[in-house]
Amino acid sequence: MGSITIYDGADTIGGTKIYLEQEGEGIFLDFGMNFKTYGKYFQEYLKARTSRGIYDLFNLNLIPKLNIYRRDLIPSDLDISVYPSLNVKGVLLSHAHKDHYGNIGLLDPTIPIISSLKTIALLKAIRDCYRPTFDSETAYFSMRVPTNDDRCIKSDQKKNNMYKGREFICTAEDIPPPFFDFFRKNKSNWKPYDYGDICELCDYSFKFAINPFEVDHSILGSTAYKLEGDITLAYTGDFRLHGTEGYKSKQFFQNSKDASILIIEGTRTSIEDPNNKTEDEVYENCLDAAERTKGLIIADFAGRNFERLKIFQKIAEKLGRTLLITAKTAYLLYALENADGLDRLKNIKVYKDLRTRPRNWEENIFKIQKKIEYVDPFEVSKDPKNYIVSFSFYDINNLLDIKPEDAAYIYSSSEAFEEESEFDFIRLKNWLNHLNINTYGFDIIQGKPVFDKKFHTSGHASTTGLLWAIDTIDPEVLIPVHTENPDWFKNSFDNTVILQNGEKYQF
Ligand SMILES: [Zn+2]
Repeated sequence: MGSITIYDGADTIGGTKIYLEQEGEGIFLDFGMNFKTYGKYFQEYLKARTSRGIYDLFNLNLIPKLNIYRRDLIPSDLDISVYPSLNVKGVLLSHAHKDHYGNIGLLDPTIPIISSLKTIALLKAIRDCYRPTFDSETAYFSMRVPTNDDRCIKSDQKKNNMYKGREFICTAEDIPPPFFDFFRKNKSNWKPYDYGDICELCDYSFKFAINPFEVDHSILGSTAYKLEGDITLAYTGDFRLHGTEGYKSKQFFQNSKDASILIIEGTRTSIEDPNNKTEDEVYENCLDAAERTKGLIIADFAGRNFERLKIFQKIAEKLGRTLLITAKTAYLLYALENADGLDRLKNIKVYKDLRTRPRNWEENIFKIQKKIEYVDPFEVSKDPKNYIVSFSFYDINNLLDIKPEDAAYIYSSSEAFEEESEFDFIRLKNWLNHLNINTYGFDIIQGKPVFDKKFHTSGHASTTGLLWAIDTIDPEVLIPVHTENPDWFKNSFDNTVILQNGEKYQF
């Protein structure tokens, strides 16, 4: 006897928090941040108050009403002891996208994260080089203490116990020794720090046996799981079948035919989008645009979409240009190298933006650990035809320093689904018009962004892919998540069980 409860993410894309329980022990399958519900109340200048810990999130129902959170984030006027306390043995994390991991940092520190080695590497690097909000400190977090008025909390500045780590259980069979060294380094001084342990899956015990399968998605390290207990359950996380490594996703489904319950993502069931380009087609189309450009090429793809980065690396090589990336992206690639030994920074240089002071992790890593060349805007403007620079909208003001001529901006990432991001595209286009830059991949037509599907392909399975995946496993029970259209599943499969947020399915 056991149960599956969807605490969040039943009818939204992301925010996934699924609880699998058997005989009083359970694990969460992902514990992500729900951008949709956060967006109902918050925006850039109105956020949950750090000084009140989980108070705002709890009272706005943005996190499940359970007694499973860090004590140091609970101010004295919030009593969570009246809510159910679960015996959580871990969070089984599918991949390093915030809508899947973004609320883990709030959980009691004794709850470990179970994930692939690449995901651990990315979480550590993201925590090191992106300024986190208190609710997204995942790999390690800064401990809080009550202020004089203990309805508020603040960072504990005592030197030795400022950061607290969370234990990781790694799904890889062997963890290369240099990885431990990387994981334990403090980003500020690159000296060892006690961030908690990384253990191997074979030393971990839970009511279900955990079988990880690497799958293809828009970030490396993505993993689907087959769990074997009283029943066998398959959880896809996010996946696609049409990417370069789509065969890996297929292997997961072919090896999970014995699963009686399938929990599957359905991102693309609500979006009319028959586009299923391969990464090779995206490469050809981006190459074609690049070949037509005399001046600087600006490639805009999500910084963590490493497969797309590879495409632009290939284009740079073919055209005799150098690919420039931001220091943060370079750090993520360095982190991945520590996980699998692949030098992804070969032939890549870092764009040196004009900041007054370099960040200390940058100094430590790229000057000491892994020497990497920097190129500043003056060098780029001297010889723009020699470079492809990878920028997103948020890096765009660097172009004022480069002053590019005959340049092209290739947008190779996902479409805007929210009104707020539509405004960002309008702003981006204003910048590009102002700087007289030729744009590929999107345009603004009658005040709205319109996307050219030649330059991007989704990280999620199409409806045809979903049908294949479900037919391959042929489960007794099908539970859709990560979708705004769960009815799509109901209309296609009689065995669909649609669970609302908070609803429990017993097996
Ligand atoms: Zn994802």
